[in-house]
Amino acid sequence: MTECSSNPIIDEWLGRLQAAGYRLTAPRKAVVETIATSQHVLSPQEMYEQARERYPALGLVTVYRTVEKLDELGLIQRVHQPSGCHAYIPAAPGHQHLLICQSCGRAEYFSGDRLDALMEEVAGESGFQIQDHWLQLFGKCRDCGVNFS
Ligand SMILES: [Zn+2]
Ligand SMILES: [Zn+2]
Repeated sequence: MTECSSNPIIDEWLGRLQAAGYRLTAPRKAVVETIATSQHVLSPQEMYEQARERYPALGLVTVYRTVEKLDELGLIQRVHQPSGCHAYIPAAPGHQHLLICQSCGRAEYFSGDRLDALMEEVAGESGFQIQDHWLQLFGKCRDCGVNFS
């Protein structure tokens, strides 16, 4: 078998980390490769379990440190979980919102919202000057969907 063709997202992330002075050891690369291409929300524990398939001697501390660095560089986005656990997905550029499946953890971005009227109303009532918002919708994805009657 030939080596897998390189993934542009992984290459970009590794480049960004290197440019930030981060040494790319094999265990760190395994973590980066795991989260960079994930379409599911991953907790550090889940990253650890998946990345160990690429690098069995990986330590959990390496996962946490790599996550911290990726977070600092804005490459990953922290996701609120109803369980209260921290989880992450690759960040998407621009102002977007998240759809998250509570069964399988699939995460998708969607754009476009009609929150302006609501925000004006809230701003008017509270006296807050609203500068940003953060929208995550939870539910079940197409694959996990149950029958609603
Ligand atoms: Zn799902
Ligand atoms: Zn928005």
